[in-house]
Amino acid sequence: MQKLIIPAYALRQHRLLSDSIKKILEWLASGNALYLSSRASYSIKLSRTLLQYFKQLYALYKKVDFLLADIKQMSAIIEEEEKIRNTICSGKKWSEEDEKQLNGILVRIFGYDEGFSKSKYIHLETKPLSNGGERTSIVYSDEWPKGNNSWGAGKYLRALRIRYCAYCNAESVSAFDDINGHLVSGDYSHHTAFDHFYEKTKYPFLALTLRNLVPACFRCNTMIRNAKPLNKQCLNPYDGSFDELVSFKYDKKTVEEYYWKYDPKHLLLESRNPLLTNNNPAIVLNDEFRILDCYKTLYDVEIGEFYRKLIWYNRHQLDGTFTSFPQLSGSIGRKFFLGVTFNKCDINLHRFGKLFLDFL
Ligand SMILES: [Zn+2]
Repeated sequence: MQKLIIPAYALRQHRLLSDSIKKILEWLASGNALYLSSRASYSIKLSRTLLQYFKQLYALYKKVDFLLADIKQMSAIIEEEEKIRNTICSGKKWSEEDEKQLNGILVRIFGYDEGFSKSKYIHLETKPLSNGGERTSIVYSDEWPKGNNSWGAGKYLRALRIRYCAYCNAESVSAFDDINGHLVSGDYSHHTAFDHFYEKTKYPFLALTLRNLVPACFRCNTMIRNAKPLNKQCLNPYDGSFDELVSFKYDKKTVEEYYWKYDPKHLLLESRNPLLTNNNPAIVLNDEFRILDCYKTLYDVEIGEFYRKLIWYNRHQLDGTFTSFPQLSGSIGRKFFLGVTFNKCDINLHRFGKLFLDFL
């Protein structure tokens, strides 16, 4: 809900992965058709097409660092990649099945599930063969280059200082047992704490791009995102702050009337900028992830309780308390009694942090 800021050390760590992937693309682009065809039994013809593709993708990667790309660069990469596919891969020589296989290769190179979520380092490894030759292959390993700590989804999540979903601010994003990003186990665990703003099935080459990895809860990441593609007008949490674009409101007068019977319909979301009313990316985000509906139906108890505290402590309780404890008067006292003691910059660490601060 607050804009996600990537700390410098996360960028440094990610650059290492980026350099490694660049080397893999360079290697694929420099004539390693045999590697591809031996792995997936491609025809030589298809391998040649793939080589053309990787040559151009590598040229693009040299211009824009995919893994560290900013928001505008991500859309530019998508456009450029589409152009590459259209010019090289169009026509009958490139079937739907071939597309699928190409995506399979990209998924392996930009391996979020196999590599980043397990803190594994992807790189090229060359081993000698018994006949005197050598064989190079793409491998994942626990070994990180000397002088570098391991790096992966668990560490990135902590670097972002976020505990609750960047979309809904209601459910936890922690799906990890420890700081190394090891995953929780068990039948009901969900194994992904990051949503890919641009789906990784459609855009596998952006699977590891930091600004494409939005910490999200199971509801938003799996249930909502799997149902349909995201409206591209939706705010990317790395691009702006939901908090600054919109605010949660409640109708004070009506709420007082309904003191004992909280009715969630009084909860509203308003654009902070009147010029943005029809084109506010945070409103689009709200619609896409049905945040207001979710607050009204799933969390009416928690939010209702907060409503009542606001009214009760304002009307009856605080004046007397402040006479005895003048140090608690004013906003400090209200925060103390309402249980909201954090600052705006810590919204992402608190459940309903945005809504509670808006109501204060
Ligand atoms: Zn969520």
